[in-house]
Amino acid sequence: MPTYTPPLRDMRFVLHEVLNVVDELKLLPAHADIDADTINAVLEEGGKFAAEVIAPLNQSGDAEGCTLDKATHEVKAPKGFKEAYAKYVEGGWPALSCDPAYGGQGLPHVVNQSFYEMLNSSNQAWTMYPGLSHGAYEALHAHGSAEQKALYLPKLTSGHWTGTMCLTEPHCGTDLGLIRTRAVPNADGSYAITGSKIFISAGEHDLAENIVHLVLARLPDAPAGSKGISLFVVPKFLPNADGSIGARNGVFCAALEHKMGIHANATAQIVLEGAIGTLVGEPNKGLQAMFVMMNAARLGVGMQSLGLTEVAYQNAVAYAKDRIQMRALSGPKNPDKPADAIIVHPDVRKMLLTARAYAEGGRALAMWTTLMLDKELGSDDEDERKECADLVALVTPIVKAFFTDNAWIATSHCMQVFGGHGYIREWGMEQFVRDARINMIYEGTNTIQSLDLLGRKVLGDNGKKLKKFGKLVQEFVEDEGTNEALQEFVNPLADLGDKLTKLTTEIGMKAMGNADEVGAAAVDYLRVCGHLVFAYFWARMAKVALAKKDSGDPFYTAKLATARFYYAKLLPETASLIRSCRAGLAPLMAMDEALF
Ligand SMILES: Cc1cc2nc3c(=O)[nH]c(=O)nc-3n(C[C@H](O)[C@H](O)[C@H](O)COP(=O)(O)OP(=O)(O)OC[C@H]3O[C@@H](n4cnc5c(N)ncnc54)[C@H](O)[C@@H]3O)c2cc1C
Repeated sequence: MPTYTPPLRDMRFVLHEVLNVVDELKLLPAHADIDADTINAVLEEGGKFAAEVIAPLNQSGDAEGCTLDKATHEVKAPKGFKEAYAKYVEGGWPALSCDPAYGGQGLPHVVNQSFYEMLNSSNQAWTMYPGLSHGAYEALHAHGSAEQKALYLPKLTSGHWTGTMCLTEPHCGTDLGLIRTRAVPNADGSYAITGSKIFISAGEHDLAENIVHLVLARLPDAPAGSKGISLFVVPKFLPNADGSIGARNGVFCAALEHKMGIHANATAQIVLEGAIGTLVGEPNKGLQAMFVMMNAARLGVGMQSLGLTEVAYQNAVAYAKDRIQMRALSGPKNPDKPADAIIVHPDVRKMLLTARAYAEGGRALAMWTTLMLDKELGSDDEDERKECADLVALVTPIVKAFFTDNAWIATSHCMQVFGGHGYIREWGMEQFVRDARINMIYEGTNTIQSLDLLGRKVLGDNGKKLKKFGKLVQEFVEDEGTNEALQEFVNPLADLGDKLTKLTTEIGMKAMGNADEVGAAAVDYLRVCGHLVFAYFWARMAKVALAKKDSGDPFYTAKLATARFYYAKLLPETASLIRSCRAGLAPLMAMDEALF
């Protein structure tokens, strides 16, 4: 059975030594009293909860899956899930970063995000139940009416009710402009909603007393396409005015999907039969309102993959130190044993270091992004809020797609470290690979993320957002330009920054002639951007590690070695990605459709 140790030391390093989050957070009125001890204590307790309560249910949940009673439409999550969720609610964990006005603890999002990394390492399928609720909370918090907020937010904050996002329909996932679910106004101001949704995560289960579905649907007079979509809140049980559970609503689970991974999360087909819902936000502006939840979920999916990368790495390292096979090519490293531990072999190390570099680089970017989110939501300076919002918007598709692509590589490498045993269930490594695969698909496929990045966020605003991140890189390069010890990081970072600027201009020019050039370049382009962002954070981490390398703490020696590995072995991938971007559209379109 896999084991998991919360990476608290590395979290503290990123939070306090690299990002100095306490100084930054203290400037925000809501967090003026925050201190490092509070953050560390919450993460320590959160790590214990994740490792001791949630992780032990990961393999059993995967083997058992969820079960639907077709007569009652009720779904049972695997054994132990409900009890673990009750402990989660009892411990106040759902409320961590929620608004105190609704019973929340008001801690910074960056703390909650780090907690979620640990939950995801422990059990992605379980974590999706509360994870989606938090997204629903954020959408209602941003766009709900006073009445909706009063009714739903306290229950979502306490965790007594969970949430879902109901977008996808059988004929459309990416193109939500095609949705057919209809909402007809009732005389009392509510709506009767009818339609079919598929692939709804945590769509039905027995963990909580009520499920709050956020549903996209069309009003009778809605314009065609994405400009005619509205958002509705549709509870499984209609709440009474005092918040108690009322009548059963007409929203049912018709079937559960059988799928590759995350078996323990119920992926439900949801049928709405005149279900009663209320409108969230303005008519026909549902997609904008839903984007709050989708953006939160995109960062959340990145955290799922970060969690899987970390746990897969931890288990692969333990195995590589224990498993003996063959001798090192350069001669025995442990002559007392019949063979050397496989960690002596260069390629085993490459696989381990790849996972480690993606986990630690990802953690730095994830925490920084969430700190920017805290500032976007909490600063009293409007310019700063806008600056942070732009940076978060820019890196959100990178967190979603780069992390999830990296986790697919990393979990696969870590499984490979186990040889044939990695393919066998009892070790748990193949589950990490299976679970990681969905993260590249849902919440907008990684192709869609790359189109969002290149098409909307970079070319769509004339590179303004990209320049904002570029400025951070440039400042670092200028500040450290004369720091001899950092040149091995600063020079390649500056070089990649220049290359990305040129590449962006080139693609922009080509796209003026043919917009399909964006689609041809986008996926490779996102990966180049991902590497630039990682290289920036690895350089910052290397700077801290270099300054402390004589402290005798091996943590800094390992950090520096991983930074060097990242720059030497992973960053060079950008050369081939840039060449592929430059090759453009022609090789993709040369073949006639009929010849496929
Ligand atoms: C386990 C699981 C859980 C899910 N959870 C939820 C949930 O909770 N709520 C919810 O609403 N949905 C959920 N989904 C649905 C998920 O978000 C969609 O499956 C996903 O967005 C892709 O939509 P699709 O399956 O319809 O594929 P399609 O949209 O049909 O896409 C098929 C392929 O075409 C590509 N493609 C489409 N358009 C373009 C384009 N313009 N340019 C380039 N390529 C394009 C896609 O990238 C993809 O590779 C879940 C799905 C799964 C499998």
